[in-house]
Amino acid sequence: MTKMRLETDVFVVGGGPAGLAAAIAARNRGFSVTVADVAQPPIDKACAEGIMPDGLAALRKLGVNIPLDAASSFQGIRFSDGESSVQARFALGSGLGTRRTKLHEILIDRAAAAGIDMHWGARVTGSAPDGVKINGINVRCRWLVGADGQNSRVRCWSGLDSVRTPLSTRFGFRRHYRVVPWSEFVEVYWTKHGQLYVTPVGPEEICVAFLSRNPELRLEDAFAVFPQINARLRGADLITREQGAVSTRRALRSVHRGSTVLVGEASGSVDAITGDGLSMAFQQAYALAEAFVNDDLAQYQHAHRRIERLPRLMANLMLLLDRSHWLRARSLRALEASPTLFTRMLAVHTGELPLFQIGIEETLSFGCRLLRA
Ligand SMILES: Cc1cc2nc3c(=O)[nH]c(=O)nc-3n(C[C@H](O)[C@H](O)[C@H](O)COP(=O)(O)OP(=O)(O)OC[C@H]3O[C@@H](n4cnc5c(N)ncnc54)[C@H](O)[C@@H]3O)c2cc1C
Repeated sequence: MTKMRLETDVFVVGGGPAGLAAAIAARNRGFSVTVADVAQPPIDKACAEGIMPDGLAALRKLGVNIPLDAASSFQGIRFSDGESSVQARFALGSGLGTRRTKLHEILIDRAAAAGIDMHWGARVTGSAPDGVKINGINVRCRWLVGADGQNSRVRCWSGLDSVRTPLSTRFGFRRHYRVVPWSEFVEVYWTKHGQLYVTPVGPEEICVAFLSRNPELRLEDAFAVFPQINARLRGADLITREQGAVSTRRALRSVHRGSTVLVGEASGSVDAITGDGLSMAFQQAYALAEAFVNDDLAQYQHAHRRIERLPRLMANLMLLLDRSHWLRARSLRALEASPTLFTRMLAVHTGELPLFQIGIEETLSFGCRLLRA
């Protein structure tokens, strides 16, 4: 490990997407920043690898741009359950699919260019009254940022584990295939056991992910329900082996205490079904740096609630569809008949349209279709 500074304005535990984004945002505001992560880069993680337009906008505000040769843009979302299908384009801009390892490299390059002190293979083992303990050394900092993921130790050390709603857990698995993406949409295939995601992540590469409540189920189980996906992937090179991760729904009562503050999945999460995790982390990073400037972490708490409000609502709605075959089948049929409503719902999801602008008339007409479908 390279020599670590013993004093810094901001110490970030965890150099995943949230930690690096928070570090870049703070450095952009002139603070000295140190990041430590126990893993070695580029860090991979099972993920459907789509970044929504609002996440890309937040990244741009941090000065991070993802070049298209390292990614593939997508224009909207398509839902299908084998009987009905509906698709919608984003109202403004597009989303981007990119491998987690690529995203990590890009964030590291930006952080290095900004002068952030990064330490890899470095586990933070405890907090001290004025900083953290790392490999037996105490590092003093003005703010300690916990960006150490869903099982955050920083959250635990700082007594921020208390939740507003019960936790819920699902399981995700993903693989990559070498194949030219066949759609300009992220495709979401709904089965009675979960959702199969197909995200374009490069000019000749797709990420296929399956999310389910059942930890025993794997991608092959989802392929069995959708032979058309199997047919498309037949003969395509498998680039990565199947990798799994847990997707948790967690809403914390508070995301800061004293000079400790949480960001990314350490600060709570919505189910991966929304594809919002990275977008939320990038928006939180920007808001956190603003709060540092004003020396007011309550301001960040406020912004954090605002950022997570809509994704939480969307996750609840989508998990309702996940649980009820009856509701899912009827909703998809009704949306297939009202594609404009689906477009407006997607615009609300990505923050391009305020929720109240989904008209009463449209909602009532959808309700009637739902009952007739
Ligand atoms: C199946 C699945 C699909 C998903 N699909 C999408 C999607 O399509 N789009 C999207 O936006 N989001 C998606 N997500 C959510 C997304 O993966 C998360 O929101 C994102 O990884 C959160 O990043 P993070 O930096 O908070 O946490 P992490 O990526 O988990 O990073 C935490 C880091 O902290 C480090 N760490 C932990 N403890 C210590 C310690 N003591 N000392 C030092 N370092 C430590 C770890 O090594 C790790 O690098 C998906 C999630 C799952 C499970």
